[in-house]
Amino acid sequence: MADNGLVTSPDVVSALRPRLPSPLVEVVDGRFARRGVRLSLKRDDLIHPDLIGNKWRKLAPNLGAAAGRTVLTFGGAYSNHLRATAAAGRLLGLPTVGVVRGQELADGPPNPSLARCAADGMRLHFVDRSTYRRKAEPDTLAALLAAAEAEGAYVVPEGGSNARAVRGCRGLGEELRGVADVVALACGTGGTLAGLAAGLAPDQWVLGVPVLKGGFLDADVRALQEEAFGGPRGNWTLDHRFHWGGYARVPDGLDSFAADFEQRHGVPVERLYVAKLLHGLVALAEEGAFPRGTRLTAVITGAPFPTA
Ligand SMILES: *Cc1c(COP(=O)(O)O)cnc(C)c1O
Repeated sequence: MADNGLVTSPDVVSALRPRLPSPLVEVVDGRFARRGVRLSLKRDDLIHPDLIGNKWRKLAPNLGAAAGRTVLTFGGAYSNHLRATAAAGRLLGLPTVGVVRGQELADGPPNPSLARCAADGMRLHFVDRSTYRRKAEPDTLAALLAAAEAEGAYVVPEGGSNARAVRGCRGLGEELRGVADVVALACGTGGTLAGLAAGLAPDQWVLGVPVLKGGFLDADVRALQEEAFGGPRGNWTLDHRFHWGGYARVPDGLDSFAADFEQRHGVPVERLYVAKLLHGLVALAEEGAFPRGTRLTAVITGAPFPTA
């Protein structure tokens, strides 16, 4: 395997059998049609039942690079990334270690997300929040690896966004060349957006909706593109208005918006990311942000857990 993330190891692909390219489906929705906007959904949630959406695209090149070593990564109590990593470990026969934010979670029964990780064979290592915040510092990381008895492990950062992951997400853009004017997605670390923008054609534009509050993501995306490609790539902007109070906040208004979207279109709507994206797009369409005739594609980056 080329070690640049361009190619995912054939072993990984044949063991995991992703559905690629993921389906692209046009939906009829009056809130967009009224504005002359054609909406399509890029169903990355259908790539793989356990490595859902962008998690497949980001993990696959890293699993190849791990080359059989233990894979260690990080996440919160309900992390989609931890569950995807644990599932990949089970499917590929790779040992996995999940470093979980929150020492207090070690007491008492695991929540359903962590229980799934453990059932997939992931060894969970709980750390206090202050250690967790400093996990990328070399000394802290070395101490963590020792404490987790995982020296020599292949380390994937929180959220899975390293240079290999970003390069892996170029494929999403390549699948959408020529079929969309604007491609929109929800962003956590921004790794998926950084790669997607690099894979599109020069006349296409990416719109990112950050689900975390803080406005730091523009700089993070620039840094990820620098690390992955050596400089900026593609056309992208972020709209910071649609986080609904911050990560994992799902107010009733958002929940009912998502339930209504599910009813209209028969697509399961993951609440922490995808619902915020779709709501933001409806608001933008109503503001007249998209010129008539725009072909708008929303990336369905994940699915609700537990899966319906
Ligand atoms: C992880 C995740 C994201 C965020 O991806 P980033 O590359 O971190 O921006 C978006 N949507 C869903 C459903 C996710 O699970």
